[in-house]
This record gives sequence, C-alpha cells and structure tokens, in this order.
Amino acid sequence: MTQTATPYGIDVAHNLAAVRARLVKAAASAGRPAQAVTLVAVSKTQGMEALTAALAAGQRIFGENRVQEAQAKWPPLRQAHADIELHLIGPLQTNKAAQAVALFDVIETLDRPKLAHALAAAMAQSGRRPRCYIQVNTGEEPQKAGIAPGEADAFIATCRETIGRPLAGLMCIPPADEEPSLHFALLHKIARRNGLSEISMGMSGDFEIAAAFGATHVRVGTAIFGARHP
Ligand SMILES: *Cc1c(COP(=O)(O)O)cnc(C)c1O
Repeated sequence: MTQTATPYGIDVAHNLAAVRARLVKAAASAGRPAQAVTLVAVSKTQGMEALTAALAAGQRIFGENRVQEAQAKWPPLRQAHADIELHLIGPLQTNKAAQAVALFDVIETLDRPKLAHALAAAMAQSGRRPRCYIQVNTGEEPQKAGIAPGEADAFIATCRETIGRPLAGLMCIPPADEEPSLHFALLHKIARRNGLSEISMGMSGDFEIAAAFGATHVRVGTAIFGARHP
C-alpha cells in the first residue's frame, strides 16, 4: 500500500498526476499554455484521508457542493496549508450567504438577484471578497440551477452593480445526454462578450473537451477520488 492510498483503494496521487497530464495535453492540443487551465479537485463526500492524500500530492484548489460539509472538513486543513483555495460549486441558499463568504474563495453558483444582494451584504460586513461566477443553465433544463442564456447579459450587468469587482466568471453544467462542446462554446461566448475572464466548465467525463473550448477551470471529482461516498 502506498502512502497516498485511501481506505477505498484509490491512489489519489496517481489519479491526480494522470488527470493533470491529460489536462496539459488537452491544453497543448488546443494551443493553450498548460497554466491557462486550473484543476479544481471536487472533494464532495470525500473524507479526510482522500483530502490529505490530495494535499500531499500538491493539490491546493478544491470544490465542495455543500456549505455545511465544507465547514466541517476544511478549517483544520487550512491551518496546515494557508494556500488552499476553496470553490463552492453547489447551490447556495440566501440564508447561507454569509457562511459561504466566510469560508469560500470562489462562489461558482450565483444565479439570482436575491443571492447577489445577500452576497454583497455579506462581503460588506465581513470585508472578504470571494470571486463569484454566475451559473448559466446552458441547456435550459427546468430542474437545473442557473440563469438562462438569454438572460445572462442582463444578469451579469445586474451583478456588476450589486457585487462589483468580485464578479469574475461563468460556470455551467451541460445536460448529461447532450454533446458538451456546444454548451462549452456557448458559455465561452457569453463570457467573452461580457468581458469575464474565468470560465468553469468540464468534469471527469469531458474536461479535455472543456479545455479545448476555453475553460480556465475544470471541476474533476471521480477521476481523482473514485466513486463518491454519500
Ligand atoms: C460533483 C460535481 C463535479 C465533479 O463531477 P465528476 O463527474 O465526479 O468529475 C463537477 N461540478 C459540479 C457542479 C459537481 O457537482
């Protein structure tokens, strides 16, 4: 058993190295420098041993989808690693905005004016300024969070007024049964015409395609940590 094996027999260090190598290759094929695409390791449902293994392998940027779970897991690890960057990638309730602002460095799921106001208030009160991405529901799926593509420009303008400079980018989760590249191209286009520089798209199954279509952040979970443990 290697030092980085988890109880589930997943070699996190090995998987991380493999994902990083694939990402570098995908970026290069698209004529982009390797550092243009940042790997966000999605650690939702994963326990301490998996997180520790990823940290030991040099990973510092992580994604979590629940405020409460992240609050339970990350503060002690942050004491040991000051350079950890935490991304919230799951839906955020307005009444948890202050907790999210206190804990996360990037909030990827801004999707309604009420939440923009709550985040702005929490930022003003705490002095913390996590970067924010607007989630765009590129597939216009009724069950999925995010602003509709046709409303994105107006909502971006609203958020610029409400939260100002911390508004940094866009995020999407394409429909599971559709060709992701169409959605990635759409998100890239909306980001570019609105002058937003950060684009979060691509997961375990399609992060190389996302890198080719201009992702600056890919969110990869199972390819690094194996199956989730609910
Ligand atoms: C869980 C999750 C991911 C990671 O998905 P994998 O397929 O495990 O890589 C990425 N983005 C979001 C928003 C998620 O909820």
